[in-house]
Amino acid sequence: MLLRPYACVIAGEIRFGVEVEVIDGVITRLGIQGGVPDDYILCPAFVNAHSHFEYRGLLNRVHGDDFFSWIREISAAKSEQEMAEVAHDCQIAAEENRGTGVAYVWEHSDRPGSGHAMKEVGLDGVLFQELITFREHASPGLKFAEIHERAAEQYRQSGIPAYVNPHSLYTVDHKSLERVGFRAGPISIHCAESRFERDLTVHGSGPFAEFQRANGWDVVPQGLSPVAVLNGLGYLRPGTQLVHCCDVDEGDLERMARTGVSVAHCPRSNHALSCPIAPVKRMLDAGIPVGLGMDSAASSGPIDFFEEMRCALEMSRRRGEALEGEEILWMATGGGARSLRVPNWDIEVGSRVPLIRIAVDDCYSAEELIERGSPGDVSWV
Ligand SMILES: [Zn+2]
Repeated sequence: MLLRPYACVIAGEIRFGVEVEVIDGVITRLGIQGGVPDDYILCPAFVNAHSHFEYRGLLNRVHGDDFFSWIREISAAKSEQEMAEVAHDCQIAAEENRGTGVAYVWEHSDRPGSGHAMKEVGLDGVLFQELITFREHASPGLKFAEIHERAAEQYRQSGIPAYVNPHSLYTVDHKSLERVGFRAGPISIHCAESRFERDLTVHGSGPFAEFQRANGWDVVPQGLSPVAVLNGLGYLRPGTQLVHCCDVDEGDLERMARTGVSVAHCPRSNHALSCPIAPVKRMLDAGIPVGLGMDSAASSGPIDFFEEMRCALEMSRRRGEALEGEEILWMATGGGARSLRVPNWDIEVGSRVPLIRIAVDDCYSAEELIERGSPGDVSWV
């Protein structure tokens, strides 16, 4: 198959005058445009570095003013949902991911459903079966076994690798955190999303600390940032993804760069929950691989990767550390894939990257594509 787009996205940049030959799903040749080009931009499919399909049905239904009230509200909303409803929501979310041009996802799952949906829709990726031992913190063994079985079931249903994976520092007991941290395999953990996490780990104060104490936890101030606490638990190493990292300081960034962890940046969710703006430009400058994640519809809004990219651009400007459009397109494609340890996710000879057409005409820059694109412009090659 010979593709003649008027432009290609290569290494995050808009490149004109390139035609692409694809044989049996492999890019076999890049050449100089030899005919009349068609009216679309050819792009590697997007990589969704962090998501929760099961909350698709909670779109516009959770309205916390800050992170703590939001997480209380979503916990209450979840308890009212039937499993059939959750499975249906996962299916819709998977279809909408595909519709917005996503081919690969690192998906967090609490209740079953997303593995099956990913398989049905043809999404590739990794499943992280969330371990939460908030109520079982004193004796988490049975809960751990239950989540292990849930992960195994998701794998049986989908063939997608599934791992037991802690939700966060503030919802999982110390022993279980250690158990996963010192294990082989990929990890994806919410980290430094709000300032409340630092209050908990440094001072043993704030809403998380109060909530833990009210539920019988022995809360001890550790004098360490959340990233530093994770370091002591074995988490800072290649193959670990820290989700959010809104509230990180220079010491954290240095540790993250040195140890080879990656980051999932979810700007729409962070904005909706009044989290600090993540220092993404500094992460990239420090060599930390960053991917872009749509998180869940309950905080981010509609499943639309172009909206996510626009928000990444806008938030970086508000922080005063503006990202280039090319940096954002790279986080959305090859750079995001690299952050998930998937190589060769670009338009290059030998690559098997899934490709999308984006029908936005007369577009001259990465920033313009981000500003003007929408899921309705996407079709699959
Ligand atoms: Zn999340």
